[in-house]
Amino acid sequence: MNQDQIDIKDITLKKFTSSTYKRNIDRLNPSNRIYVRKSKGTFQRLRRFIATFLLLIFFFMPWVSYGERQAILLDIVEQQFNFFSVTFYPQDLTLLAFFFLIAAFGLLFLTTFFGRIWCGYLCPQTVWTFIYIWFEEKLEGPANKRRQQDLNKLTIQLVIKKTVKHVVWLMIALLTGFTVVGYFISVENLIIDFFALNFSFWSTFWVLFFSGCTYINASWMRSIICVHICPYARFQSVMFDRDTFVVSYDFQRGENRGPRSRKINPKVLGFGDCIDCDLCVQVCPTGIDIRNGLQYECINCGACVDICNKTMAHMGYKKGLIGYTTERRLSGHYTKILRPKLFVYSGVFLIMLTCFGMQLSSVDSVGLSVLRDRNKLFKVNNLGEVENTYILKIINKTQRVQEYRLNVKGFSDVSWYGKKSVKVKPGEICNLPMSLGVYPNELNLPVTAIRFVLSDTQNSNFEVESRFVKWMN
Ligand code: SF4
Ligand code: SF4
Repeated sequence: MNQDQIDIKDITLKKFTSSTYKRNIDRLNPSNRIYVRKSKGTFQRLRRFIATFLLLIFFFMPWVSYGERQAILLDIVEQQFNFFSVTFYPQDLTLLAFFFLIAAFGLLFLTTFFGRIWCGYLCPQTVWTFIYIWFEEKLEGPANKRRQQDLNKLTIQLVIKKTVKHVVWLMIALLTGFTVVGYFISVENLIIDFFALNFSFWSTFWVLFFSGCTYINASWMRSIICVHICPYARFQSVMFDRDTFVVSYDFQRGENRGPRSRKINPKVLGFGDCIDCDLCVQVCPTGIDIRNGLQYECINCGACVDICNKTMAHMGYKKGLIGYTTERRLSGHYTKILRPKLFVYSGVFLIMLTCFGMQLSSVDSVGLSVLRDRNKLFKVNNLGEVENTYILKIINKTQRVQEYRLNVKGFSDVSWYGKKSVKVKPGEICNLPMSLGVYPNELNLPVTAIRFVLSDTQNSNFEVESRFVKWMN
């Protein structure tokens, strides 16, 4: 066995407390739903702070303008991605590939170091689920009351409460769906269409689609996604080792577990520090008992850490019976923070980040491509010049109208037939047909390498290579 690997533990049913056992059966059955008890403490405050910050960015970003355009807009119809001052086009797709690679290595690093911290603190599924649970608790009461209410007969009062809850959930879902679509279709046009009741089929379809996904995921699916559907939950264990910080129960300290009075010394009764209050299970959004050891269902949210710390404080015991710690520390050794795996992940991450930065800085503010006339390689015009025809494709990637001047390098004497300057609006693509005429005595080769030069208003030059072809004798 590799010294860095975490041992597999057999979680037998006899280890479960009765309440835990009930929570661990058939989570896919909605009637066995998990009623998540509220947990308060340092990690829950941190989670709320991070979630609020991310939600503010998510909901407000589509309303932010840069210049005359929406600051972040992934315009699929126009094939443009506006990101503040930069506009990306399909030809900049390598940047997207770099971005995903960076995100993947960032996640590898984070998971190796802190376990499933992404799931517990940053994942939209968790954030929206907690918003929905928050409203559920405000409208229907705490978890125990909700469980009891659902077991009892429906009353008019409960029907009203549940109706209000679902209306609130649907409004949040609609707002979410609207915001997601606002990243793809100008949010101003969306809102104008909305108030003018002028709904286009596709925008309405996508708003309803994302709203539906939000509502179903956060109201009903909840941890079913984390436990049974999300692929990340499955492959994360590959990244864990004995030095990964994960939420763990200190078995040595906690066992034997059992209820006792605060006034009695647990050692006298042969008990450890766990009073078997079951609170760590009741607050767990995935319904597991962390006292059974590391389980792939655990999203590292820290809810059990906070509630257990409160219990320990109440009993007058030291905090940290459940905490963010490593398997190595729990077995009485020092955690190895600096380890080869982390160096490799962070090294690749930094290399990717540097490449991304370099690629980003090399994104031009204008795109110029040259297409040769495919029907005719050349012709001889009535002045006796060899003439080649091209289409110059100019993309203005800036936020301002630009006047571009055009020229060609490669001949000392050349005639330009067509416009030599053109005004292009922001984000517009201009197709400019033109020809070059050269007297045969200038042409020593059947194919001459030339360069088209485009100068913008700031006198920056952009060059693109092409060829000039003459007839073969
Ligand atoms: S919250 Fe702490 S004391 Fe209570 S059952 Fe869980 S581990 Fe034991
Ligand atoms: S075991 Fe603790 S940290 Fe893991 S999901 Fe449950 S409450 Fe969150």
